[in-house]
Amino acid sequence: MQKKYCQKEWSRHPFINIIPLKKLFKHFLKRVGVYYQMQGSYRAAIDHFNKIYSRTKFKKFRGSGYSCNACGEMYSRFIPGIAEGNIVKPLEKYQVIAGYGENVFCPNCFSTSRDRLVLAVLQDRFSIHGLDILHMSPEAAISMYLKNHAKVISTDIEPECYKRIDKNTIYADVTSLPFTDATFDMIIANHILEHIPDDDKAMRELKRVLKPG
Ligand SMILES: [Zn+2]
Repeated sequence: MQKKYCQKEWSRHPFINIIPLKKLFKHFLKRVGVYYQMQGSYRAAIDHFNKIYSRTKFKKFRGSGYSCNACGEMYSRFIPGIAEGNIVKPLEKYQVIAGYGENVFCPNCFSTSRDRLVLAVLQDRFSIHGLDILHMSPEAAISMYLKNHAKVISTDIEPECYKRIDKNTIYADVTSLPFTDATFDMIIANHILEHIPDDDKAMRELKRVLKPG
């Protein structure tokens, strides 16, 4: 189960599985015996190749009309997010909007529409300068913004999955947070609670560590 979540976050790039180079590179690193020692660098390198690949592939998206509030690049549109496999039926049945549809991924920084929505709120509706913020399962685009404007602690139940976004990510179970009462001015927990079986308990914890008001 742990590995599954790691892979889920890791495979967020829609292109990751169609690059044969990835397999070759991984195979090479395993053969020379350094794959497990340098997984972080390996992933960074794959990220890098992905970016080059997608910038070429999505060159036709260049233009104006849409600007990314995470990286500042302009496009005529963003990359659609297409739901696949066993996720399609429940999405249709319950009419859930879960980050799928037109204009989801930024072709430059891969921020998603839901990342950019949170960023828009942070940029336009709040002054977060100097605030104490808890950021759960940190999204790269949001994490960078927070680190530049506030005092942020990143957490996840599998912190290793997020070290390449924030190397200081620490372990935290949202139903038993390792923080004293009234520690944070703001909590960002985007797409977290639907994964928590006891979400009532998680919400009590979120309330407990938030400062009153
Ligand atoms: Zn972007």
